[in-house]
Amino acid sequence: MINVPFASVDVMHREIKDEMLEAFNRVYDNNWFIQGRECEEFEKEFAAYCGASYCVGCGNGLDALYLILRAYGIGKGDEVIVPSNTYIATALAVSYTGAKPIFVEPYIETFNINPGLIEAAVTDKTKAIMAVHLYGQPARMDEIKNVAKRYNLKVIEDSAQAHGATYKGIKTGALGDAAGFSLYPGKNLGALGDGGVIVTNDEELAKRCRALGNYGSDYKYHHIYKGNNSRLDELQAALLRVKLRSLDKWNKRRNEIAHMYIDGIDNENVILPVTDKDMTHVYHIFGIRTSKRDDLERYLSDKGIGTNKHYPIPMHLQGAYAELGFKEGDFPVAEEISKTELSMPMYYGMTDEEVSYVIDAVNSWR
Ligand SMILES: *Cc1c(COP(=O)(O)O)cnc(C)c1O
Repeated sequence: MINVPFASVDVMHREIKDEMLEAFNRVYDNNWFIQGRECEEFEKEFAAYCGASYCVGCGNGLDALYLILRAYGIGKGDEVIVPSNTYIATALAVSYTGAKPIFVEPYIETFNINPGLIEAAVTDKTKAIMAVHLYGQPARMDEIKNVAKRYNLKVIEDSAQAHGATYKGIKTGALGDAAGFSLYPGKNLGALGDGGVIVTNDEELAKRCRALGNYGSDYKYHHIYKGNNSRLDELQAALLRVKLRSLDKWNKRRNEIAHMYIDGIDNENVILPVTDKDMTHVYHIFGIRTSKRDDLERYLSDKGIGTNKHYPIPMHLQGAYAELGFKEGDFPVAEEISKTELSMPMYYGMTDEEVSYVIDAVNSWR
């Protein structure tokens, strides 16, 4: 038996250790820790990576989404459309502004929001659509933008899981009006702590987000908004600059692993994830589905294979959203995913032998 963890940064971090320590030393010796050159350079480099004009560092992915919504003036009395299947941060960002998240079901095949269902959820209070690129695959942006255009809504990308993924050749971050990225350690591009960025082509929005994340200040000791303290520090920015240089290589390996899974997994009780046309996927998560999910989880665990569930309780059934008054059956697609999805091991550094071991284990499960 070999042990295959669900995720690991071990090989990734060993390979870049010298460059990371060099970056640490640079910040350490520079004696400047917040709002300095490293963050500025990382912002430029990440904007260029996405093919967008502006990037603003902030404290985490949740704040990135929240700051964008606030910068658009979204708040109490407004509604924002979010997929019913996503990490709860997408909805919480909306709730923090005082606005209400409105859930729309995903496609079961790709796990991403079904644009054909958005129009029915639009009311005169709707201000924006959160397009989540879940598990590393872009949402169907053209269809989403068409609905948005008809009702004059902003399209905000939740790109927390999709650094480097493309839709019709364009990278996430440059697909909507603005995008929030998480740089949480486990994401495809992760800091050694919390971090986030806002990416946009809208200069005014970028300025407002920067001020809102810096105590609402556009100029030292001038406070034009009741802002937050949410900034990307110099140390994380310096480390992220090193990591950004390898992101494409890491995403490429994730794709190789995913394609080995897709070619190799052959079990009539297992449904493989689908990549939509027009997309490149970065496989933050490789999620299979099976009606006997908990049984497969145990079976793999007994063979030393780590798995995870994204996500076991859909948002509308979470205690945090009890106020919305939903019950089991209200969002059947999200509920089906929550009961059947199982995420396979996926990380840079996973060997072909380990991938084959997982494939054989899944195929031998009855
Ligand atoms: C991780 C994640 C977030 C939140 O990012 P944090 O940096 O943890 O705040 C938001 N949305 C999605 C889809 C995520 O996966």
